Amino acid sequence: MEVEKFQALVIDKNQEGFHIGLKQMALDNLPEGEVLIRVQYSSLNYKDGLACTPNGGIVRSYPHVPGVDLAGVVITSTDVRFEPGQQVIVTGFGLGVSHFGGFSQVARVPAKWVVPLPAGLQPQEAMLIGTAGLTAAISIELLEHNGLSPEQGSVLVSGATGGVGSFAVAMLAARGYKVVAATGKASEHAYLHALGAREIIGREQLNPEVRKPLEKQQWAAAIDPVGGSSLAFILASLQAGGAAAVSGLTGGVDVPTTVHPFILRGVHLLGVDSVNYPIDRRSSLWEQIARDLKQQGHLEHIARLTIPLREVAHYAEEIRQGRIRGRVVIEV
Ligand code: NDP
Repeated sequence: MEVEKFQALVIDKNQEGFHIGLKQMALDNLPEGEVLIRVQYSSLNYKDGLACTPNGGIVRSYPHVPGVDLAGVVITSTDVRFEPGQQVIVTGFGLGVSHFGGFSQVARVPAKWVVPLPAGLQPQEAMLIGTAGLTAAISIELLEHNGLSPEQGSVLVSGATGGVGSFAVAMLAARGYKVVAATGKASEHAYLHALGAREIIGREQLNPEVRKPLEKQQWAAAIDPVGGSSLAFILASLQAGGAAAVSGLTGGVDVPTTVHPFILRGVHLLGVDSVNYPIDRRSSLWEQIARDLKQQGHLEHIARLTIPLREVAHYAEEIRQGRIRGRVVIEV
């Protein structure tokens, strides 16, 4: 591949409507940044699914190249911390949102967003993990900082077959937690057991018809990438002093809760923001994720599909519909 001319998935919205497709780009089309990267792999996240729709509320201006994750090789860098040939990862910050993202064979990004690829991790494995794995790891970090340990009881993971959910199940199991996985996919129980879930419940159990301000105490903690009304039930069902780490909104943005779980059971609501997770802690978190998942052999259990750039538009619709199991890795 020439570096001067390369392909990218470009979305555009103008008077003629919304358009998504592969386009030939030149280096001059890329935004400013210190590090020029030959992108090898990217991945598809729910946020990318939203970016690929006309009213997803993610993209700041058009035309735009989406993709919140990338892994690749440095071509040139004006920042001395990075050198040509070095393998790197970029996730979050403005990538794929306010800055051209990873669905492009070449990307130019600020050096302050770049993390060296951890030793022992292949670029495609880094993208299997991607923002989803990072978000699951941050969720666990927050819960353990709040005092969670395996002897306190089971940990609920909602949206369990999705990207964040799959990694949350696998990482919690690897750390010795008893995981209860909640899913809307009745066909995926064997998958969730293989990831390490001890118990599986239907998504509808988190949305009972009759709601009480406080429910039976069931979980020491929860990792919730779903949000919406099921989060209200989760908060009402946590053990006293328990916590929910909340990262997402696939189930909606409104949470019809009361103050009772907080003031009568001392429950904690912990917000997870992988986008702005500090760069000085990212490398060590990536190394820990790679070590934990590889040592336990859990990485190989995460469901994955590898697709070329030209199939992204199709799978963007699939992820918006909640039909993806595990992760979609993009070979760029
Ligand atoms: P995925 O689509 O891979 O996973 C989402 C899962 O949620 C689905 O697989 C499904 O799991 C479940 N789900 C889908 N639709 C619904 C619904 N209507 N009601 C209840 N559950 C549903 O997405 P990601 O893992 O990439 O992202 C998950 C969420 O986390 C998104 O909202 C995303 O924006 C957010 N996110 C936030 C981050 C942060 O930094 N805060 C970072 C990364 C993601 P199942 O069928 O098993 O129930």
